[in-house]
Amino acid sequence: MKYLVESCGYCGACVAVCSNKLLELTEIEIIIKEGCNDCGRCEMVCPLGALILEEDQ
Ligand code: SF4
Ligand code: SF4
Repeated sequence: MKYLVESCGYCGACVAVCSNKLLELTEIEIIIKEGCNDCGRCEMVCPLGALILEEDQ
């Protein structure tokens, strides 16, 4: 999962949909904890395209 901090609007939508609770919203960025299974849910809900699923990760 690639995260583009410069595109993030800190809306928190991605945090709410991660079923593994791996995403944490801080004041300056989203932190992606270990254990992501690339389910793509956060990418689908991000309104700003700040989360991008990458095949090779
Ligand atoms: S791809 Fe899925 S598991 Fe990984 S951070 Fe996003 S919602 Fe969570
Ligand atoms: S859904 Fe997108 S814009 Fe909103 S906090 Fe997550 S990464 Fe940032």
